[in-house]
Amino acid sequence: MNWQQPWIIGNWKMNGRRSSTVAFAQAWAEQRLPENVSTGIAAPLPYLLDLKQAAPALPVGAQDVSRFDKDGAFTGETSAAMLADLGAQFVLLGHSERRQYFGENNETLSAKLDNALAAGLTPILCVGETLAQRQAAQEQAVVAEQLSVLRGKAMPHIAVAYEPVWAIGTGQVASAEQIAAMHAFIYAELLSFANKSANIRALYGGSVNAQNAQTILNLPNVDGALVGGASLQTDSFAAIVQAAAKQ
Ligand code: PEP
Repeated sequence: MNWQQPWIIGNWKMNGRRSSTVAFAQAWAEQRLPENVSTGIAAPLPYLLDLKQAAPALPVGAQDVSRFDKDGAFTGETSAAMLADLGAQFVLLGHSERRQYFGENNETLSAKLDNALAAGLTPILCVGETLAQRQAAQEQAVVAEQLSVLRGKAMPHIAVAYEPVWAIGTGQVASAEQIAAMHAFIYAELLSFANKSANIRALYGGSVNAQNAQTILNLPNVDGALVGGASLQTDSFAAIVQAAAKQ
């Protein structure tokens, strides 16, 4: 991933099969894509190698990693070292679905961040408020608390994705004002503790599609997008990558 370029990251969540993964990769290889955009797919773990083998030029990542760092009796877990061994370059951490269904919190995320960094993976920390929290004007406090897990970490560069929970998979995109205000806030927070030489990538996520990508990606402090549903089809994902190239 290039820290000077826009990032367009697909999050496939728990979708697809081997056949659709390989079909995506083959269609992706035929796309004429701009070189000034960094693109990646956070694939379901069982299909990570299939995707990597069928589309070697497309960086792949994982959607989570174990909080345990040593091999051993942790049934069902996948370590950061295993992900790196498979060729993963990045890992999503703290996605709202993991916070909601798996009780992800700053304590587990802190360990996961350490493990990802030690294995040479780039963590992309997902943050964002629920609708109730926004309605209570708590969105900045919530995001600040979620970002605080990054404090004190020896991170050369920092990638975060702002994903208002109410905008994920709903078709209800945050307004330009809401996105710009939160991204300015995120930059200010990160710059208050980040290493001075750190590059920051602040992605927006939440119902980004081929139609709205250009407008969102042109907003100040928006360095790319985390894309769920629209990353499952080659055409819509490629259109978002093309929109990022026009920034
Ligand atoms: C996501 O889950 O990270 C996401 C942004 O999903 P969608 O684009 O489908 O809203």
